Amino acid sequence: MDKENINLNKFDQLDCLITPGEIVRRSGIYEICHSDEPRVSVLLTVNTIFPFCRRCGELVRYKLLHAAPHISEDPDFQEDASAPDNPAQQTSDKRQFRPGEVVLIAGIYSVLHRDHRQSHQATLNDGETFPPCKVCDCDVRFELLSPASQRSATAGNKPTQ
Ligand SMILES: [Zn+2]
Ligand SMILES: [Zn+2]
Repeated sequence: MDKENINLNKFDQLDCLITPGEIVRRSGIYEICHSDEPRVSVLLTVNTIFPFCRRCGELVRYKLLHAAPHISEDPDFQEDASAPDNPAQQTSDKRQFRPGEVVLIAGIYSVLHRDHRQSHQATLNDGETFPPCKVCDCDVRFELLSPASQRSATAGNKPTQ
């Protein structure tokens, strides 16, 4: 932020206009702007709801940092489940993930197809599995572009499971 940092007790939320309870219209990485805590980023997917914060409640605000469709919104990846088990041990400068591997870090990934399509971006949540492409199948690769700093969307909330 170029703005002069005012050292008050309150955290500035002026640039965060999305209120909790609204429906997420675009998947992507959002900044959670708490009223009493530093900001974190989180991955939210379309048609979910911006959660209330356990600590600052309805005072929490959100701001879209980087929009990208969730992988399940992409026609090349729809409706599939049978990902092959492919424990890849590929080490390059940038770790590439293969279909079948479990997503450990929620965030925006670059999706690299073999040759039928340009690379594009997609969001994936941790705990999901990298899906195979309908066209190039297991030759598709995923590279992490920007991780969300917080694991789950429930800002400051304890998972109730
Ligand atoms: Zn909060
Ligand atoms: Zn493909």
